[in-house]
Amino acid sequence: MPTVGWIREDALEAFYEGTERTPDPGPPAKPTFRCPFCSSVFSIQKELHDHVYKNHRVERPVMLLGGREPSGRAVIRVPVGRSAIAFVNATAVRISIDGSDPQRCLPDAVPKKLADTRQGEMNLVLLNDSQVNAEPVSTCYAISFRIADAQELKRVEEAFAEILVSSSITRDAISCFLADQRTQGPGKEYATGLGYYCLGVLIKERPASEHLTTPLSRYRELYGSALQVLADFDRPLARLITGVIRFAMNDFSEAGSSTGYWELDLAKVLLSDPGRTRMPSSDKRAKRRPICPIDHGTARILDLAARMATQSRWSPILDDECREIANSDVLDATDHEKALAIWAAAAWRMGSTQSAIEPLTQIAAVYPFNSWAEQYLEHVSK
Ligand SMILES: [Zn+2]
Repeated sequence: MPTVGWIREDALEAFYEGTERTPDPGPPAKPTFRCPFCSSVFSIQKELHDHVYKNHRVERPVMLLGGREPSGRAVIRVPVGRSAIAFVNATAVRISIDGSDPQRCLPDAVPKKLADTRQGEMNLVLLNDSQVNAEPVSTCYAISFRIADAQELKRVEEAFAEILVSSSITRDAISCFLADQRTQGPGKEYATGLGYYCLGVLIKERPASEHLTTPLSRYRELYGSALQVLADFDRPLARLITGVIRFAMNDFSEAGSSTGYWELDLAKVLLSDPGRTRMPSSDKRAKRRPICPIDHGTARILDLAARMATQSRWSPILDDECREIANSDVLDATDHEKALAIWAAAAWRMGSTQSAIEPLTQIAAVYPFNSWAEQYLEHVSK
């Protein structure tokens, strides 16, 4: 038997049924693709892709110093002009100097700050927040400014001449140079580069008095570190040392630049372009004074180049002289290769192609001499 509640429920239901009609849902809605950055809606996914790519692409912001992007951690040793600093794709920059709170500024304001800084640590975060609803894309650079003025660099060179050029190189002498009062302060970076170089010379020469345990191959790392620092300094001493280091490491990429040291300039040209008709000529009248130590291996190779390149005719005696140096077991592998290359290049230049065959076969596949040796060898074996 139905209760009163049942009756009332039925009546209400009847009422609702009469007033609320659920509309017919119809066929399923077409999928839509809504742009996350603006109000555009697309019916095909590809259209959305194309739209986002075309209208909302956020490029990585980049800083350019002299046309190149510095690495994430960079050291600046020489002043940079304001015009050499550029920003691409950056809408804002956050700068923090020596650990201070980051300050937000427009990219236009940054070149002046960079150009005016001489010493200090700068953290730069470049932002590209050109899209309203997107996370900004950022790039960080940590830049150490270690810029010394000409006077400070000159003082470092004075200490260098006094401590490391006029007497023999020892670990104590290098420590003494690096601790000298003239090498402290802004010039320290330059002094460190010179220190690496001298330590490299010491490791390569291995004097018995030093009781070295460091392996010979370490000299290459030290030369590399010195090159990295000294290549930034536009000073005659730095140019000469970087020239010597490149030559010692068989890098002839800057063979055309003059260091003012005739033997080195001659040997660089002879080994990178043996077919060149005009070789650098020496100025016999010029007075010379020692300005930097050169490791004995490299010095021997430079002497050999100067002696062989200035001969007016070739003979088996010269072959023998070259062979002896090329086979010497106190020389490093890079110096053996250079001795062979000098032998081949000098004999070739003097028309003694038969004498050139022996060294050419040994360097035909050796970088960087293969750039010419392979071709010469092919030519004589025809
Ligand atoms: Zn959009």
